[in-house]
Amino acid sequence: MSIKNITTSAVRAGINTDKHHGAVVAPIHLSSTYSLKGFNEKRQFDYSRTGNPTRATFAEAIAELEQGSVGIVTSTGMAAVHLICQLLSVEDTVVIPHDCYGGSFRLFTHLAKRGQFKLIVVDQNNAAALAEALAQKPKLVLLESPSNPLLRLVDIEEVTKACHAVGALVAVDNTFLSPALQQPLTLGADIVFHSTTKYINGHSDVVGGVLVTKEQALGETLAWWANCIGITGSAFDSFLALRGLKTLPIRMKQHQENADKVAAFLKDHAAIDAVYYPGFSDHPGHEIAKKQQSNFGAMLSFEVKGGVEAVKKLFDNIALFTLAQSLGGVESLISHPSTMTHAGMEIAAQLEAGITQSLVRISVGIEDIDDILADLAHALAQSQQ
Ligand SMILES: *Cc1c(COP(=O)(O)O)cnc(C)c1O
Repeated sequence: MSIKNITTSAVRAGINTDKHHGAVVAPIHLSSTYSLKGFNEKRQFDYSRTGNPTRATFAEAIAELEQGSVGIVTSTGMAAVHLICQLLSVEDTVVIPHDCYGGSFRLFTHLAKRGQFKLIVVDQNNAAALAEALAQKPKLVLLESPSNPLLRLVDIEEVTKACHAVGALVAVDNTFLSPALQQPLTLGADIVFHSTTKYINGHSDVVGGVLVTKEQALGETLAWWANCIGITGSAFDSFLALRGLKTLPIRMKQHQENADKVAAFLKDHAAIDAVYYPGFSDHPGHEIAKKQQSNFGAMLSFEVKGGVEAVKKLFDNIALFTLAQSLGGVESLISHPSTMTHAGMEIAAQLEAGITQSLVRISVGIEDIDDILADLAHALAQSQQ
């Protein structure tokens, strides 16, 4: 029986798959190699870089949640991005968003500099700039919605249609929402990928990635490359990420409930100049979010009054939010994009992208909401002293 409900299918992932002992939870297979049944008689698995039962169980579970055909588990989120680059040759053009994840930006710009493909960086909300880029007939267009740290939205269905019209493949970074809140393949995309380090594993104790294709053939090509270049994820990480995945939909509900309340609390706070949250009806991407997401997500950013001095006081006084990059774990995190996640960007480029010194990003965790709000209230009051 195939399960359509995402909460049920996440919880049931890998359950009852052990044919030997009836282990309820999918066992972890650490063996690097597998015996042949006899001369030239292969089993399903032969060597763990190529295929591993624990990794395969996790890959199938993610493919099901993303409603795709082939799932590929990679050692990191960046490995998933790099895997997509294997589809490109020197004469191909790639289009990436100007505000994509910093690591993706670094990878694409450096590979392009070495002549591995041609690269166009655009603001995908600028229809004219996007049309101009698509007129170059790119092989691949990368999308990321919502973006980091300003939560800008791209209409995945509309942009995908325009990309397909010029023969481009579309790959969407879905890390910020997870398949519990957005399923890009159902909006037409060809590839969806994640840093499982974030919401999918959800406990800040694994670095990993995953990629799912809509079509079987493209999935097989990418799986061939994943083995060829050796970037497949480990059995142990797959086991942990599969365990995390089981509570993904239920965790997202709590993240969401808390984030909505935090956003409402920050909106009219005297210490804050602006809050970037797609759940607000005046957020420029609000209507797109309502159309393509099942909720608004638990990432938000805001500008503190008083500049970087006030930000420092906020960080010195906050207790429940840990000052760290990354996101999507059960614990709340707070960060300063300008000096942390986006430090690799020149200040001028940061400002052009809307990243000011007063900008603070938070990943709202699943702690008790009253504790979260009390902590924010205290630290924000101190930031203005
Ligand atoms: C973290 C992240 C990545 C990279 O993933 P790693 O697991 O750190 O390699 C890619 N995209 C987004 C949106 C991310 O947040």
